[in-house]
Amino acid sequence: MQRWTIGEVEVVAVFETSDGFGPEFVRRLIPEATRERLREMAWLVPHWADAAGDAHMVVQAFGIRSAGRLILVDTCIGNDKVRRNPAFHMLATPFLERLREAGFPPEEVDEVVCTHLHFDHVGWNTRWDGERWIPTFPKARYLIERRELEHWRSQGAAKNPALADSVEPLVEARLLTPFELGAGFAITNEVELVPTPGHTPGHLSVRVSSKGALAWVTGDALHHPCQIAHPEWTSPADDDQPRAADTRRAMLREVAETRALLLGTHFASPSGGRVRHRDGGAWFEAETGSKSGEAE
Ligand SMILES: [Zn+2]
Repeated sequence: MQRWTIGEVEVVAVFETSDGFGPEFVRRLIPEATRERLREMAWLVPHWADAAGDAHMVVQAFGIRSAGRLILVDTCIGNDKVRRNPAFHMLATPFLERLREAGFPPEEVDEVVCTHLHFDHVGWNTRWDGERWIPTFPKARYLIERRELEHWRSQGAAKNPALADSVEPLVEARLLTPFELGAGFAITNEVELVPTPGHTPGHLSVRVSSKGALAWVTGDALHHPCQIAHPEWTSPADDDQPRAADTRRAMLREVAETRALLLGTHFASPSGGRVRHRDGGAWFEAETGSKSGEAE
């Protein structure tokens, strides 16, 4: 389990799966990230690509402990969900046990943050109790940005099956808290949600600031570390590709200028590191934090 300390805040990565997020998937997601181009980035090897230029990603959540509150950022794909892609269909992972081991028992989580409403960020919002989808985190406030929610509701069920099984059941349970993001939204005096639109209209990232130390959880503002060197590499999965690239550039600039720790939502382990610049080029330098428990 990967764990980082940012001032008085503790962040832990909780792994769900890497199935379906291998080289073919990365090439579809970021078409410019060809084998040839990735082989030019030796720093990607071995953590985020192999020497042949085959890249990989993971699906994971970040647990944040701040000011006595347990905050969970993005809830992965989830178990028992009916999905078209066989790699994501009817998963049966021990994610909740891992979450518990990481110090985030579902019944104690205070806040669930969804950076956006794609299926791989909202799945564990709910779990199947044998009859229906119920909230996995029974006392949590589920924070979902209002524009993001309205966008997906206007798209219809076929565009985003996760809406019906992973978001709408929270309304019935009165746990869904749609909020206006504006320029930002503070959860504690150390953890703030900031707008990073482009991948989706209401996409947000999480900024942690404590005792002079800073960290960002990206959500899908970045998908893979190769985009640190090439923020212009967009994705067909980005709703507004030019805007996504602008957002990526702005975020990376701020991360570099403030020497913040960057925690990549889909970055394979080590998922944290620093953005480095030299001679007009940029790269990512892993910062593993402390590790404990079984292999991820
Ligand atoms: Zn994603």
